[in-house]
Amino acid sequence: MTPRGIPFIAAARFTTSLLLFSCEDPFVAQRDRMVREQIESRGIRNADVLRAMRSTPRHLFVPENLRDYAYSDHPLPIGLGQTISQPYVVALMTDLLAAGKTDRVLEIGTGSGYQAAVLAGLVKHVYTIEIVAELANSARARLAALGCRNVTVRLGDGYKGWPEEAPFDRIILTAAPPDVPQELIDQLARGGRLVAPVGESPVTQELVVVEKTRAGDIRRRAVTPVMFVPMVPERTR
Ligand code: SAH
Repeated sequence: MTPRGIPFIAAARFTTSLLLFSCEDPFVAQRDRMVREQIESRGIRNADVLRAMRSTPRHLFVPENLRDYAYSDHPLPIGLGQTISQPYVVALMTDLLAAGKTDRVLEIGTGSGYQAAVLAGLVKHVYTIEIVAELANSARARLAALGCRNVTVRLGDGYKGWPEEAPFDRIILTAAPPDVPQELIDQLARGGRLVAPVGESPVTQELVVVEKTRAGDIRRRAVTPVMFVPMVPERTR
């Protein structure tokens, strides 16, 4: 090594450590705390769900001026009258969905793309439908930038589902229809499961789990009251 090489190496080391420092995600600690205080403390134990919540950068799914609130215990506006759900609700729905690595999942209501990104780390593929063009476009760009290659975003009406890709092992709705649309139950595979907020008005909604048995029978149970934006019905568009 020449004497002149030493300062060069020192400079290179210094630059590398600066780079590592600047690449570190300053939100990691906030996410760990969110998982501990909002999710584990309320009884969610599924290690895969906790890992997905810990590793998905929620602050990149909320408007820039709300980043400081991204990991707080409530929903946030994402523009165009829509909201990203409270972290606990995303974790609860993901837990109830009980999706596995080989599952193909349909989501209705892409919104920011956050729920789709959480699921992307747990399943084979997420097909997600959004009815508002600006939201579909920005979620598609955001998910691509984050390298979520197993998510496909479609602009369209969730009431119709995605017949070309059906049946789905799991279906999740993040906007509330007055009742579970039959079209979506039809697109659920046998042995599959659907999780949805259901109700005519925000004050009477409940989170519902629908299971289609191997024999094709439908079982339905209500889990807890929730408050979601309504799933826009065809007639008002
Ligand atoms: N899952 C989202 C939050 C969704 S908010 C996230 O993680 O950010 C509910 C979304 O459902 C809104 O973006 C709304 O535009 C969309 N939506 C409402 N009615 C719909 C319909 N009929 N088909 C598809 N999307 C719909």
